[in-house]
Amino acid sequence: SEEPKTRRDALAEMAQLKIPLNFEPRANASFVVLIRNKELKDFLPTISQLEQRFNHKFHYPYLFLNDKPFSQEFMQKVAASTTSNVTFARIPLDHWSMPDFIDPDQALQARKQMGANHVAYGGSLSYRHMCRFNSGFFYKHPLLQNVDWYWRVEPGVDFYCDIDYDPFLFMQRNNKMYSFVVALEEIEETIPTLWEHTLEYMLKNNVTSDWMSYFANRDGDYNLCHFWSNFEIASLRWLRSDAYEAFFKYLDEAKGFFIERWGDAPVHSLAAGMLLNRKQVHLFNDIGYRHEKFARCPDLSNAGLERRCQCPKDIDNFDNSKGSCLPQWKSLASIEWSNRDSKEA
Ligand code: GDP
Ligand code: MN
Repeated sequence: SEEPKTRRDALAEMAQLKIPLNFEPRANASFVVLIRNKELKDFLPTISQLEQRFNHKFHYPYLFLNDKPFSQEFMQKVAASTTSNVTFARIPLDHWSMPDFIDPDQALQARKQMGANHVAYGGSLSYRHMCRFNSGFFYKHPLLQNVDWYWRVEPGVDFYCDIDYDPFLFMQRNNKMYSFVVALEEIEETIPTLWEHTLEYMLKNNVTSDWMSYFANRDGDYNLCHFWSNFEIASLRWLRSDAYEAFFKYLDEAKGFFIERWGDAPVHSLAAGMLLNRKQVHLFNDIGYRHEKFARCPDLSNAGLERRCQCPKDIDNFDNSKGSCLPQWKSLASIEWSNRDSKEA
C-alpha cells in the first residue's frame, strides 16, 4: 500500500506474519525552527499540536536555530514536549550580519524612512537579518548539510487537523520541491524593486519558466503573490543548488534585504517560479493551519471529518478572502475545488 507504516505497525506485522518486511522508509528530513527565547510560551502549544497531530507517529527531529544562545528553560521545556530528537544550535555570525557591500548609514536611513511610513517591521534591523537568513542561509547550517527536506515551523501557529501521512515522503515520491498552505499578496512597500531585479536576473541568465506569469499582473508588474513561508515543506537540495544560490547572491548584491525590506517568502516564491516546474510546487490543501490572523481549514464535509479537524467556529477562511492568491493558483493548477464552507466546524 502507499500509506506509510509506523515502525510499530511494521514490527507488529513482522511478528505476526514472520516474513521479512521492508520498513516504510522515513525521509531524510527535519523540522527547522528559527526562534527567540522569549517566544517559548508561544511555541509550546504549537509543538504540542504538531506532535499530537503528526509527529508522535513519525518522530522527525527538530532543529532549533537562534542568533543568540538558547536559555536552559527554553531547551528544557521544548525537549520535554516531544520524544523525538531535538537539537539547539547557534547561527554562525556571518549568516546574520550586514555584508560589506551594504553601507550601514544608507541602511539606517532606509529603516528610518520605512519606520516613519509605518511599513510592517520597516524600522527593524533584526527582521531584515531574519528575512535574509531565511532566504539564503538557514539551509547552509552545518547541522543540515546531510538533510534533504525541511519543514519550517514558527511559534504561535496552529495545526487544526490530523496529518496521518508523511508529507516529506509525499514530496519525495511525487517529485515536489516546494510546498505551501497559504498564498497571499505581499506588502508592496517592502519590495519596490524585487520584481525588476528578478526579471533582470532571468534575462541576464537566460532563465525561462512557463509559469512565472503566475506572479505577474496584466501590466507585467509583480502581482505581489507569494507563498507564505511561515509554513514550508521543501527540498534543502533545491535551496542548496547552484541555481538557487546564484539567484540569492544576485538579490543579496542588489541590496534589497537591507535597503528595502525583502521578505524570504517572496524570494522563495519567485525562485520557485523561475527555477521549478509548476508541478514541483505543491499546495497542502488538506492541512488546517493558522499563522497570526490568517487561517485556513480544509473542506470538512469529507476529509476534514476523518482528519479530526478542529477549526474554530468563527474561522474566517483566508482562502476566500481578498488578498488571497489561491484563485490564481487554482486556475493555474486547475485543481478541483470543493465547497470550502464548513458546516461541521
Ligand atoms: P512574521 O511572521 O513575518 O510576523 O515574523 P516573525 O516575528 O514571526 O518572525 C519569523 C520567524 O523568525 C519566527 O519563527 C521568529 O521566531 C523568527 N525570528 C524573527 N526575528 C528573530 C530574531 O531576531 N532572532 C531569532 N532567533 N529568531 C527570529
Ligand atoms: Mn510569524
